[in-house]
Amino acid sequence: MFYNLLKTPILIKSGRQLLGGLDHILHEAHLLFPNKILVTQKNLFEAYQHQLSGTIFSKTLFVGGGLMDEAFHVMDECRNNDALIIAFGGGSVLDIVKYAACRIDKPYIAIPSALSNDGICSCVARLTKNGKKASLDAQPPVGVIIDFDIISKSPKIMLYAGIADLVSNLSAIQDWRLAYHNVGEPINELAFLLSKQAALPLLRYTEDDMGTDNLLKDLANGLITSGLSMVASGNSRATSGAEHLISHAIDEFFPEKSTIHGIQVGWAQGIIAKRYRNDPFYVNRFHEQIGLKKVFEEMIPWSEDDFDMLISYAMKIRSRYTVFNTI
Ligand SMILES: [Zn+2]
Repeated sequence: MFYNLLKTPILIKSGRQLLGGLDHILHEAHLLFPNKILVTQKNLFEAYQHQLSGTIFSKTLFVGGGLMDEAFHVMDECRNNDALIIAFGGGSVLDIVKYAACRIDKPYIAIPSALSNDGICSCVARLTKNGKKASLDAQPPVGVIIDFDIISKSPKIMLYAGIADLVSNLSAIQDWRLAYHNVGEPINELAFLLSKQAALPLLRYTEDDMGTDNLLKDLANGLITSGLSMVASGNSRATSGAEHLISHAIDEFFPEKSTIHGIQVGWAQGIIAKRYRNDPFYVNRFHEQIGLKKVFEEMIPWSEDDFDMLISYAMKIRSRYTVFNTI
């Protein structure tokens, strides 16, 4: 009675050539269901038809846009079916299934096609409703399978986004510490340490390591652990601070100038670290050595001077105490 009871996946597997052996992996994990429903994107289904043909699906549903309506469609198709849902795709596919499966209380497996953010194994789904993105409570998958052969074929920028999103944990936990000291917000130490330990192994890599199995393994493990830190605290406090507020503000108020989530939070983290924190984790040095600094220069249309203006919008996103409350 004095323990935290956490919902965590019973199956976590990463490596190469996994998708073709999906049935075998599920069997080994004792995930035996009469039916399996595949939810994926059409282009992915076509690209990986050969590997997917090794598994029999009672139904295949195609989704694309990360829309709330698509989540309702998945709920309708899966509700009366004793099936294991297999979500194979990018963040939008995983988030649709994450939310739908939670609403109809069905187990699901996440097979990400890219490692672009820490939503792979989290309890928060980001879906678009009436043109606006919203963070919604959901449940983590019962299994996560990360096939590096698939991840390696995703655009390099997605890998950069995942790295930046994960390393931004180091900014989020500093905001949490600040909130504890300044306004007495309690810290969930388990969530805090999971978030921190998820990110730290990434800091040793350089641009030459991009795409290597070592980096992919640390990134995959880190993103899963980061998701579990959200499960531990029941919210995103340990993984989302002022840098995420900036990214959400860009998405909400300047959608025409928004870009990939991880790239926006990484850019914001760099400026926050330099201006307000003395960069204790040397993230700006890391961004330079891994090649993210160049990515920010190419993809972020905002200047450092625009940042002050963005802070006022970021403060409207949610009432979460961050470094912005101290300036
Ligand atoms: Zn994020």
